[in-house]
Amino acid sequence: MEITSEIFEVGGGRLTSPEDAAIYLIKFGEESALVDAGCGLATDRLFVNIRKCGADPQRVKYLLLTHCHYDHTGGAADLKRRIGLDIAAHELDTPFLEAGDNRVTAANWYGAKLKSFRVDRKLTGSGDEILLGGRKIDVVHAPGHSPGSVVYLTESDGLKVLFAQDVHGPLDPSFLSNLKDYKESLRMLLAIGADILCEGHYGVYRGKAEAARFIRQFIT
Ligand SMILES: [Zn+2]
Ligand SMILES: [Zn+2]
Repeated sequence: MEITSEIFEVGGGRLTSPEDAAIYLIKFGEESALVDAGCGLATDRLFVNIRKCGADPQRVKYLLLTHCHYDHTGGAADLKRRIGLDIAAHELDTPFLEAGDNRVTAANWYGAKLKSFRVDRKLTGSGDEILLGGRKIDVVHAPGHSPGSVVYLTESDGLKVLFAQDVHGPLDPSFLSNLKDYKESLRMLLAIGADILCEGHYGVYRGKAEAARFIRQFIT
């Protein structure tokens, strides 16, 4: 579960519920944030995992959403209700979350309904930064898989850590995917030169070469 001394994998298939995409915890000092929320079917298990990492679920300050899809956002409404955190998402994916659009958020794929919620912090992906425990998390717009996909980038233990969920796609008209944007975003992700890549469904890639290899395979 430990990725760096401050970053942990706390949710995802093995850790919470099978359909969940990965959920990561960033713990900078007394403040912490979650990256993505899973489907919301195992929130109690998620809280147990957060506690195991030495953080208090009630004090998680932000939920940083990478994009609008149900396997990453289905649990957001419950997290908001139970712990009152601030939810951040890109402004282009926000309308589908706030309206509970089951097609664009892919909830239909899972035979589920998205519980809609308000996005507190609408990101543009150019120059946004999240402050957590006095440290900085950068937001970069990476459209293609969905119009408002973003990646979060921060530094921990002297390493550049990139949270990029659904690097692998897929692209689908019902998600409003865009192949040209997707390819450009992949090239942008490669250029970041992350030391650690935290992906949504394929786990954690350590080392610049490993992270780059994972991203490069989708640029065909
Ligand atoms: Zn997705
Ligand atoms: Zn996903």
